[in-house]
Amino acid sequence: MPSRYDLDRDALADLLDGEPRYRVDQVWDGLYRQLAQPAELTTLPKALRSRLDDELPAALAPVAESTDRHGDTVKWLFELDDGARVETVLMHYRDRTTVCVSSQAGCAMGCGFCATGQAGFRRQMTTGEIVEQVVRAARRARDDGRRLGNVVFMGMGEPLANYDRVWPAVERLHGDLGLSARHLTLSTVGLVPAIRRLAGEDLPVNLAVSLHAANDGLRDELVPVNRRYPLSVLMGACADYLRAKGRRLSFEWALIDGTNDRPADARELAELARTLPLPAHVNLIPLNPTPGYATRGTPRDGVERFRHQLGDLGVNATVRRNRGTDIDAACGQLAARVDLRARPAS
Ligand code: SAH
Ligand code: SF4
Repeated sequence: MPSRYDLDRDALADLLDGEPRYRVDQVWDGLYRQLAQPAELTTLPKALRSRLDDELPAALAPVAESTDRHGDTVKWLFELDDGARVETVLMHYRDRTTVCVSSQAGCAMGCGFCATGQAGFRRQMTTGEIVEQVVRAARRARDDGRRLGNVVFMGMGEPLANYDRVWPAVERLHGDLGLSARHLTLSTVGLVPAIRRLAGEDLPVNLAVSLHAANDGLRDELVPVNRRYPLSVLMGACADYLRAKGRRLSFEWALIDGTNDRPADARELAELARTLPLPAHVNLIPLNPTPGYATRGTPRDGVERFRHQLGDLGVNATVRRNRGTDIDAACGQLAARVDLRARPAS
């Protein structure tokens, strides 16, 4: 049975066949504008409400929820109908509220430093499962007196390896939840054919490319898919994306102690960035520790040094705070540690 955010409007109309036409709008409005559960739609007759509750089940069952000390980061572990688990993180910043969503249960790309990669691939998430993460986060944001404005596809999975379900989700977030495409960011390990496909879409979403290394030798090791789409090919696709969209492109760089945080790494990165038609922005994230990877993240002073060096070389870089490291709110880590830390969801 499709879940409540898997249905498109036509499918909902089919489900409501025999009801007055305006019911479709009422239910759609309830799901996407009011962020309501069918049972809460008091404008509907009671019998219809309970029928919809049965026939439009939620896709995500909260298994655990954790909140950081200040209440500005909330992380959920959700179970899908087949028992697979994914995570979603809501982050309130001073000036904006962002949700980080998963796009696959697990991931097949095999990046050794990533907890999701270490666990392997389980299955694609459906469009409804992806959208429902955003709806639940938007509800929580509203309860917290905030408005959810940004979505980043940086949870579990490789969004561009699930293009056919991720893109309809993006369209739903934009068209039905009313989020601006400019506030939606797809993060990719560098799947070149999918980047090219994305360049042909109408909605100008942001693209983040997880680079981590600017020479093929090191990138082959850190990001195995680099053997298939080496840097020259990837940069070609990034350049074409920039020309097609004129959107900002960002490079993600997880700083790994002694591995990709040396002066030579900064120089290589700056050189690579210079090959693009528009300046790229670099996001630096000290590597989060994961159970299956021995090397640690770059210490704080090394992170600052790397950032300064990039700046001197003309590359804009921001250090991303490790949001919610205290609640394992990063990259597959709640699923890995839920038994140890998280409390049951209410
Ligand atoms: N598969 C996509 C999106 C999900 S991963 C991608 O790889 O881009 C989201 C981001 O988290 C990526 O930039 C990824 O490289 C980074 N990441 C994964 N494991 C990490 C870790 N242990 N520490 C810091 N960043 C990590
Ligand atoms: Fe997959 Fe991204 Fe993790 Fe690599 S970093 S294994 S692509 S989720």
